[in-house]
Amino acid sequence: MRKRIQFSTPTMHGDEIRYVQEAFERNWVAPLGFNCDGFEAETARYLSADLPEPYHALALVSGTSAIHLAVKLAGVKPGDVVLCSDMTFSATVNPVSYEGGLPVFVDSERDSWNIDPVALDKAFEKYPQAKVVVLAHLYGTPGKLDEILDICKRHDAVLIEDAAEALSSTYKGRKCGTFGKFCALSFNGNKIITTSGGGMLITEDEASRSKAYFWATQSREKAPWYQHEEIGYNYRMSNIVAGIGRGQLKHLEEHRERKEAVYRRYEAAFRSSPLTMNPYLEYTRPNFWLSCILLEKDCKVRPMDLYERLNEANIESRPIWKPMHMQPVFAKNDFIYVEDKPVDEDIFSRGLCLPSDIKMTEEEQQYVVDTIFAAL
Ligand SMILES: *Cc1c(COP(=O)(O)O)cnc(C)c1O
Repeated sequence: MRKRIQFSTPTMHGDEIRYVQEAFERNWVAPLGFNCDGFEAETARYLSADLPEPYHALALVSGTSAIHLAVKLAGVKPGDVVLCSDMTFSATVNPVSYEGGLPVFVDSERDSWNIDPVALDKAFEKYPQAKVVVLAHLYGTPGKLDEILDICKRHDAVLIEDAAEALSSTYKGRKCGTFGKFCALSFNGNKIITTSGGGMLITEDEASRSKAYFWATQSREKAPWYQHEEIGYNYRMSNIVAGIGRGQLKHLEEHRERKEAVYRRYEAAFRSSPLTMNPYLEYTRPNFWLSCILLEKDCKVRPMDLYERLNEANIESRPIWKPMHMQPVFAKNDFIYVEDKPVDEDIFSRGLCLPSDIKMTEEEQQYVVDTIFAAL
């Protein structure tokens, strides 16, 4: 039997272990430290290279903790309505609930599979009091940022950008993670670069970064004894983990190119077939974190049949993120859509994420393609 074709696994290069080695040699095996400082500075520089004002970065234990601190910085209080992406990973919206906020889900458009500005407008009509929007760029594909930022501005609302899947993606030449007032990155094991687990909060202003730093280090006040005037968290990244990140960051653009090559090969293979690829806006450059397909409406095969057939052939695939408005845990939350039927339900019922590992050989990818054609 051939070796299992995996979905999206870490790709290490050797630079990572050198930073980790240095941390061991200097016995800096603790949270905070020189690798954290370096990783933050290097990521901020990477994201802000072409911007007039640099963004500020705070390395944290996960992308989820970064979103949590972003939600706190945005001032979400118990009972506050927060307008959120619907078709995304639950980590985009769970932190809203940690703070007692009420996520209201907004349907996606078909051009990039992200928040539909028309539906967002409708959501603000129903909830004019909403002051925060959480937008995830699905599978590394940037959403309609100009329209969404414009709507946020009109309603005096803050945009939190969940760029966990979209590091190195650009929108009109500007990097995702620099559009929201507060942004989150993730370095979980399957992301475009990884630290094994970790995340980063990106902020426009230094004051927000230092407030988040304060919360992330147990809200310890400046006093010689342990003085606490607010509830705190233990969210800081370790110096070991940050070393992995510094090594990975050197290879981010290379990973993006290899992800795109995977997508382009699928795209070419499925050109005249009942499948289309996950779409993107022409003026954006996605990082192609995951390659996904959408089956034509009258296709006999269902995504889960295909998933089973691929699994039998020892190929790992994944369903599209199940929309939040379909999740039992959010059964009571409102969901706003503008088409006759929700776009998210349609994409969920016809889509599948294909193996997108950058170490997959062309021969292996051809085998994935052949297996799919055999199942149609
Ligand atoms: C991975 C992911 C997160 C959470 O990141 P963790 O580092 O796993 O906590 C949040 N949002 C989206 C869209 C993600 O894909």
